[in-house]
Amino acid sequence: MNQLPRPSFPKVAAAVAVTLALAAVTAFGTAPLRDVPPPLMQFVIEPVAVAVQAEPARRPGERPEAFVQSQRIQRGETLASLLDRLGVNDSEFHKFVAADPRARKLLQLQPGRTVTAGIDAAGRVRVLQYRYGSLAPDAAQPPVRLTIRRDDDNRLQAVEEPAALERQVAIGVAEVRSSLFAATDAAGIPESVATQVADILDGEVDFNHDLRRGDTLRVVYELVREADSLDPPVVSRILALEFANAGKRHEAVWFDRDANADADEHGGYFRFDGRSLRKPFLRHPVEFSRISSGFSNARMHPILKYTREHKGVDFAAPTGTKVRSSGDGIVDFVGQQRGYGNMIVVHHRNGISTLYAHLSEFASGLSVGTKVAQGEVIGFVGSTGWATGPHLHYEFIVNGEQVDPISVAMPASTPLDAAERTRFLEQTAGLRTRIAQLDGLQLAARFE
Ligand SMILES: [Zn+2]
Repeated sequence: MNQLPRPSFPKVAAAVAVTLALAAVTAFGTAPLRDVPPPLMQFVIEPVAVAVQAEPARRPGERPEAFVQSQRIQRGETLASLLDRLGVNDSEFHKFVAADPRARKLLQLQPGRTVTAGIDAAGRVRVLQYRYGSLAPDAAQPPVRLTIRRDDDNRLQAVEEPAALERQVAIGVAEVRSSLFAATDAAGIPESVATQVADILDGEVDFNHDLRRGDTLRVVYELVREADSLDPPVVSRILALEFANAGKRHEAVWFDRDANADADEHGGYFRFDGRSLRKPFLRHPVEFSRISSGFSNARMHPILKYTREHKGVDFAAPTGTKVRSSGDGIVDFVGQQRGYGNMIVVHHRNGISTLYAHLSEFASGLSVGTKVAQGEVIGFVGSTGWATGPHLHYEFIVNGEQVDPISVAMPASTPLDAAERTRFLEQTAGLRTRIAQLDGLQLAARFE
């Protein structure tokens, strides 16, 4: 009873890939996965600091907890209601959290996260653990585990440590019948994987208009969760994918580029032959998502392309859909402008600017001079200004002149040099092999 529950990670992850597992038995009957070198070991051995024990060892003389409780934080939850649900009755604890700068992090309650506490018979907290920060790769705030413990002298203390992470690789195969999301749902592949696929292949495949019945996605992705936590794993990033679209094969593999390459290009997606998929500008500044997928506004053509009279591209999408900066740059304008409604202009290199209009909202904290990265959310689709319905009006401006972003020639990314290419081929060999093995899965899936 005084041990925190420790679900095994593979069991949690298995739920995600359950559909696949059935197919995989057949497909890997002759080619077991374990014969393949484990992909990208550098992800697994990333600096994980000390492995923090879920239940800190009890010291001599310390009373055992009467019970250990875990609760998932709910939307709009307050610390008082959370502690109540945990069965805590401890005014000293409340005072401590309000006063201690480290313990106060507990007030940043993130819905969906789990808080685990060991509580004695009187309802006093013996130990409480909470993780804050993000599990996303390259997150500004990496995950930290906060432990508040009552010591032998009944004094409360808060300790923060980098959270130990567990990573696991999952695979998925999906065949398109109607939409990408319907296909990934049917295959048990998380929604965020589908969204990432659309992003990685932006400029190669238009997932709103180019999909064909029978298109096939094969994907290897990484899941991450906090070690010894009850929180479910989240998708970290896609490691490799292959997408067969209308008879054409698209492929991508994640590669951590040498530090001596361009600072903004140290990690990215490449074709299997080593050509970079990164482009200086996104073709689709509107995020491809479940709600925007297939959305068309009855009062306007889905995509009004550039004409002499209409100096931009219109992307129909529901109000609130994320709008991303199409390239790295600096915000030049945020505000309202007559017909454009809520508008953002981002200034990029080489005399290029991009303009985003009719927004319902701006991303918080965005102001003139803010540095934005390609793909960073800057605002949300709306219909402010002269708009007949929710859509993004997007302009691509070169030296003060609007040009058609679809037809403008884009400079390619710096290619890998010989040494990098060798490293690329070595480092991605396991993933490329794994994608090749997934070819067999499609056949197995067809017997359903
Ligand atoms: Zn327009």
